[in-house]
Parts: sequence; C-alpha cells; structure tokens
Amino acid sequence: MARIKYYHLNIEDVFSKLDSGPDGISKEEAANRLSNYGKNELESVKPRPKILKFLDQFHDMMVIILIISAIVSGTLAVINHETLVDSCAILLIVVINALLGFFQEQRADNAIDALSKMQGSFSKVRRGGEVVEIPSSDIVPGDVLILEAGDSVPADTRIISQAMLKVNESALTGESEAVDKDTNALRQDIPLSERKNMVFAGTTVVNGRAEVIACETGMNTQVGIIADSLATVKKEITPLEQKINSVGKVLTGIIVVIIVIMLVVGIIRGRSLLENFMLAISLAVAAIPEGLTAVITVIMSIGVGEMAKKRAVIRKMSSIETLGSTDIICSDKTGTITKNQMQIIEIYSDGKIQSAEHLMDNGSPSHLAAVMALANDAEKNHQKYLGDPTEIALYECLERYFSVDGFRDKNPRMGELPFDSERKMMTAVNKIDQRKGDGFLISTKGSLDAVLEKCTMILKNGKQLALTAEEKSAIISEEGKESSKAYRVLAYAYKESKNFPKIDSSLETDLVFLGFSSMRDAPRPDVKRAICTCKTAGIKPVMITGDSLSTATAVARDVGILEQDSEATLGSVLDDKTDTELIKIVQQYTVYARVSPANKMQIVNAWKELGKVVAMTGDGVNDAPALKAADVGIGMGITGTEVAKAEAGVILMNDSFSTIVTAIREGRRVFDNIRGVLVYLLTGNLAEVVVVFTMTMFDGFGIFTPLQLLYINLITDSVPAIMLAFEDESDDIMSRPSRRKNETFFTPFLVSRIAISAILKTTATLLMLFLFGSTAAFFTLVLLEIIYAYTCRNLKQPIWKNKKQNKKLNISSLILVAIQIVVFFTPLSSVFGLDTLEPVTVLASVGVVLLIFILDETSKLLVSKIRDYTRR
Ligand code: ATP
Repeated sequence: MARIKYYHLNIEDVFSKLDSGPDGISKEEAANRLSNYGKNELESVKPRPKILKFLDQFHDMMVIILIISAIVSGTLAVINHETLVDSCAILLIVVINALLGFFQEQRADNAIDALSKMQGSFSKVRRGGEVVEIPSSDIVPGDVLILEAGDSVPADTRIISQAMLKVNESALTGESEAVDKDTNALRQDIPLSERKNMVFAGTTVVNGRAEVIACETGMNTQVGIIADSLATVKKEITPLEQKINSVGKVLTGIIVVIIVIMLVVGIIRGRSLLENFMLAISLAVAAIPEGLTAVITVIMSIGVGEMAKKRAVIRKMSSIETLGSTDIICSDKTGTITKNQMQIIEIYSDGKIQSAEHLMDNGSPSHLAAVMALANDAEKNHQKYLGDPTEIALYECLERYFSVDGFRDKNPRMGELPFDSERKMMTAVNKIDQRKGDGFLISTKGSLDAVLEKCTMILKNGKQLALTAEEKSAIISEEGKESSKAYRVLAYAYKESKNFPKIDSSLETDLVFLGFSSMRDAPRPDVKRAICTCKTAGIKPVMITGDSLSTATAVARDVGILEQDSEATLGSVLDDKTDTELIKIVQQYTVYARVSPANKMQIVNAWKELGKVVAMTGDGVNDAPALKAADVGIGMGITGTEVAKAEAGVILMNDSFSTIVTAIREGRRVFDNIRGVLVYLLTGNLAEVVVVFTMTMFDGFGIFTPLQLLYINLITDSVPAIMLAFEDESDDIMSRPSRRKNETFFTPFLVSRIAISAILKTTATLLMLFLFGSTAAFFTLVLLEIIYAYTCRNLKQPIWKNKKQNKKLNISSLILVAIQIVVFFTPLSSVFGLDTLEPVTVLASVGVVLLIFILDETSKLLVSKIRDYTRR
C-alpha cells in the first residue's frame, strides 16, 4: 500500500485522513486503534535461540582443549581396552560448567531486560481535548502530542502548531545541526531532511514547543523502516572486564611456557606420549581460571539489580565500576538536593512584600496574577497537575482565587518564546479577552536579574512609572533578603500591543516590571546525611545550579555542602578562562549559581584534568554534553528530558542526591567483590600450577589427573566464587577514600595477598603430598579451597572482626563438604582415581587446613601494619 505523504497535505486534510482533530481522538478510539495498529515500538532483533546461547558456552579455547583431551583419552582407552570413566567424567564436568555459565548469562540478560522496561518513556497527548501523560508505546496514529525541548519524538508526526521549534535529526539524516521546523504544506517527493513540517520518531526536540499529530507509529515510522540496521545493540565490555580478560591471556602465555618445560623434562625422562599429553592437559586445567569471566558478569548483574532496587538504574555497565571510584559529585539543586515541591510563600509587588491575596484586584485577577497564569504551561486534569513544578506551584496558588483554565480560555495563547535555561525566562503572547479590550498581552516570567534587565517601566499602584536605578536596587535588595532565606525567586513583567507582535527577541524588550514571587522548596530530608557520608568517603559534593547565588548559598549551607560562604560563586567566574585558570578556580568553590550549560562542561573538564573521577547530574537538553563528558553521567528519572537521559550512564528514578551516594556505595561493593573473587580464583590456580609442576618434577608421589583438577576448578572453586558475589559491603565501605583514577587493578596490596595465600596453600598441599601421597594432597587442596572463600570475603579484615554473615556461602560450603564426603568416601572415589584415606590422614589434613586458615587471616593484620608503616 502506498504511504500517505502527510507532509504534502494541509493540516485539515491530515486531520481528516487520520480521522482526528486539534483535540485528538477519544480514549475509546485510542484503545481501538492500539489493537489495530499495535504498540508504538520497534521490534527488537529476534532473541538468539536458547540452544545457540548454550552452545556459545563451548566457544572457548579451554573447553575445546578439554573436549579434545576427552576424545583422545577415550580413543586410547578403547584401544587399550581400558574404562571410559575418565573421558566421560571430563565431558560431564564440561557440560555442567556450560550449564552453569548459560544460566548465569541468562540471569544477567534478564536483569538488563528488566532495566530497559523500567526506562520506558512517557509522552503528553491530547485525548478528547484533555492533556494526559501516557507510555509512548501506547501512542496511535491520530494522537495529538505536545512536544517540548528535551523530548525525544516518539512517532512520525505532522506539526499542527509550533513555537521556536528546533529538532536534532542526526539519528535519521546524519545532520548534526538542529533544524528549524514550520507548519506549511510542502510539495511532493522531497527528501526526508527537507520535510520541515514533520518531526520523526527517534529525533529529539532541542528547542521550543509544538503540538503535532502522530501519522505513523512503530515499525511504520521512518526509523522503523531502517530498524534492522539499528536494532543490534552491542554488548558492552567494561574497562575492568578488559583488564581481567588480559589477565587470562597472560596466564595462557605462562602456561604454554611451563608446558614446554614439562614436555622437555618428560621426553628426557622417557615418559610416554599419552602420559605427556595428560600432564599437559592437567597443567592447562590447573592454570586457567575457568569461572572468572562468568562470575564477574554475575557480580555486575547482581550490582545492577541491587542498584535498581535502590532506585538507580544503570544504563551503561561501565558506570558501575566508575561510580565506585567517584571523587566529585556535581549535582543540580532543584529536585536533586531539594524536593522540587514548590510553594509560594510571599509576593513582592507595589514596592512591598505582600500576601497572595493581593493577586486579586476588585474580584478579578491583578496584572501580576494574569501574567502568572498566562506565562505558564502547567495544566490540571482530573485533579492531577502536569508540568514543571515551579509552574504548578504558581497554578496551585492562583486557583485558590480564580479559575486559571477559564481565564486562559478567555485570553487564548497566540504565540510564545519558550523557557530555556540560557535566557532564564519565558514569554507568552495572549489575545486579550474581547470584553476587556483589543490587542495582545505579552507576559514574561523568569529569574529576577534576567527579567529586570528587560524592563524600562514599573507598575506601582496601578500606574506605569519609569524604572529608575534606585527602584532597581531596591528591588534587588528585597530579592536578596528573600533568597537568603533559601526561597526561589521568580520575577514577572508584561507589555501590551495593539497588533500581533513579532515572535522574536524584540518581544522581551521594554517590559513593565510587576513584581516577584518567593517560593519555598525544602531540602530533601535525607540529603544532609548523604552529604556527610560523601565527605567521610573522601567524595566532594559540588552544587551547580541555575538559581541565584543567595538562594544557592542558603540551600547549600543548610544541607552541609558549604562550610564557608566564600566557597560559593557565580558560574560567570568561569567564562572565558583558560584551562590552567579553570583548574585553580574549581578547587576553590563548592557552589556555583546562575550557571550556563557551558559552565557545567568547564567544571567537569577541569576536575577531570586534575585526575578526578567526576559524576555529574543533569536534566535539561543543554546538559547532555556535560553528562557525556563526565565519567558518570547521571540522568533524572522524573524531571529529566529524554535527551539528557539518553546520555546518562545512570538514571535516578527518584531524582534524589542520596540515591547517588547509595549507588556509589553499591559500586564500591561490586568492586570489592570482584577483587575478592579474583584473588580467590587466581590464588587457587596459582597453587594448583605450582603443585602439579612440582609433582611432574618428582616421581613417585603421584600426579593430579585432569579430572581431579577439573573437579576443583569447576565445582569446588566456581560455587564459592559465585557466592562471594553476594558478599555484603564491608564496614569501612564509605569511610575510606575513593580508588585513584587509573589505579592499576593489581595493586601491591592485591599482589601481596595473592602471593601469601598461594605460598601457604602450596606449602600445605606439598607437605601432605610428600607425607601421605597425592590423594591426601588432593583432599587437602579441596578443603583449602572451601575454607579460603571465607578469607576472600574481606581482604583486609580478619574473619573474627567481621560480624556479617554470608548465608549463601555458608550453605554452599556445607553442600560442598557433603559432596567432598561422597567423592572421597564412597565407591565414587574410584571414578576420580582416589585411594582410600586413613582417619589419621584426614585428621592431619583438617589440622593443616585450619592452621593455614589462621595463618592467612593473621597475615591480613601484618599486611595492613606494613601498609600503614610504609605510608607513614
Ligand atoms: P537547577 O539548575 O538546580 O535545577 P534551576 O531550576 O534554578 O536549578 P534552571 O532550570 O536552569 O535552574 O533555571 C534557571 C532559572 O530560570 C531559575 O533559577 C529561575 O529563575 C528561572 N526559571 C526556572 N524555571 C522557569 C520557568 N518555568 N519559567 C520561567 N523562568 C524559570
């Protein structure tokens, strides 16, 4: 079916084709259309079948070597008329390992899927004349949408009306400059980039406002048509995973060298080819930490799940590790540090602070009330307010005295200059109520400094007077008093015009000053504690706000960000500064007021230049570049624009500052657990390699078989490693400084821990080998692995100082001990090629294991003493 060229039709024809109108379609019709057209979603690429995902687990060099070795040893066993138990057992363990890996990956995938569902976006639509907010996936053709700066466009739409609309279409056309849009019908067959009266799904509104009608949804949109090429989302490998993968590569290199040495020794000693082959396999199995990557994925996905429970949604996996090493949190004020629940406290007009009753003038709205109602985009529907909290507060205050909607109906809006945080104000043009006169009312509201600069007159006791310099400074001093009480101040001005004015910057000139309102926006109750936690954790909180200096200072002092008022400044101190100057300036201040989006970028870059890890919050469309530049970009789930969210690595579902601190805490826990698991697995492998290598050098004590080593690596190592992922945070998690940026993963501390534990384990196992033979050594090594998980729960603190329990680890350890009993003391022992263990050997082994455990735990105290000493 030929597609309708909506851009070629005039808007009336678009309405009739879509059987809709300026008020949109009814709710019932929308439900009908939703079942006809389906959800407004792009079909994602078909999920990879589960069986293929399972087979992916065999796509690993180690697994391939094991399968080949099982086949070779099986073939030789058949030739020599021996049993196939060994090769079957190897294959069974490989399959169990693949299943473990498969389920872990499924778990991680499910966590990520759940997150993408949480992030679903919402759109404002006009249904049956009422504005409602609905999930963007429920939009149907014929829906009238309201788009604002920062929205990402949810469907292919034709513009009904617009004000200063600019759209970034780079996702669709590759053009990075935002394009202006208008409403005129266009000629047929013009390319996408020239269809100025349409806005397409997947593009973003960077400026202005518009009412548009949805023409195509879901897979019928332009982006849907090309979806196949866009839909594949690459799985991200985080920097930490890269580092750990490279550890695997180094290990493989080392093992190749050891195998070569061993083969040479074997040939000199006259070992058979089969013996040599099985030894090489043993060493390879001993050296490679098979479970490592899978366990790291599990730890990360558990971290993602935990953060989501605490209202921080991870969008980029790498943010988890970066969050843990955050040094600086640059945060907005409104909504993040404060509640964003505004309430008008006082009004300044006619030269004095007045109560809100003065908004009425002989029973009808005063000039000030009129401007408050008209230069305002907040709406009310079924007792629910929609819009910016600042504007909702004004609406709520006004509706106590008159019907705001009724007033707006009589004075309809004909044009506007929408709010942007650079100008810090907005202006509406309304046709004046015909019963009251002719012409147009131009209403402006914004920050006091921005509005006052545009005013030449003042309305006082009903008379327009010239705005003198004295008058201005009196107003500024009144505002100073109000904002030092932490009130948010908004100023109002107006002018009238006989004819419809030009909608450009001339609209905001020669205005008449009316007054200002003071609003209270209380700090969030939990922020003070979160800031205190930040400070003990060596994290510097920095407040960056569009609000005035005195309001910002008062709020920052209240919540504990500011210790001295001299640490607060205006964003303009950063303007036109060189990089070297910026580095000096940012170290002096913790609060920046009246900032521009460019200032945010300067602050991020200067701190990064100083080698710090910077987390930056942002909600507006102009914040996107700073969010991208920061080490961790933090978007706001409630008030954030889609554009800002798209650049963020983390989204706060409750917009709260304390959630950032919670996420940092979780990031530190994830990092600690990754370190614990890594030490656990690497130490085990190191000990195994040394033991096996020693065995190959001394004849007569026996050698661990590949099956025995696989049992250790894939069962008795993997299970505790996974349980370590659930380890609770350590007591000092937020009382120690952040990790340094670019700090190597293998710090001297970590290396010393691995070395001490590996030496202890190796000594114990070799001692048992030389005294009681290879079965006793194997028994000891397995026990050591089970108990060593407890040493790795906390690498710094001995177990007796750790009051917390890891129940999952306790249960799995009991199960492993039970399996151990079955493997060693039942007929199954012959499958593993084990001899019978005498009670005295068992006792000796348990004694040695306990001794090693105590020594290892005590060594933690020694290592920390040495660390303190060397730092002195
Ligand atoms: P933060 O940056 O902490 O979120 P903010 O809301 O004050 O604080 P912006 O949104 O950049 O920051 O706003 C800057 C200034 O513009 C505000 O301090 C206020 O004076 C003015 N302002 C904010 N919202 C509106 C609005 N809807 N209409 C007119 N002026 C506004």
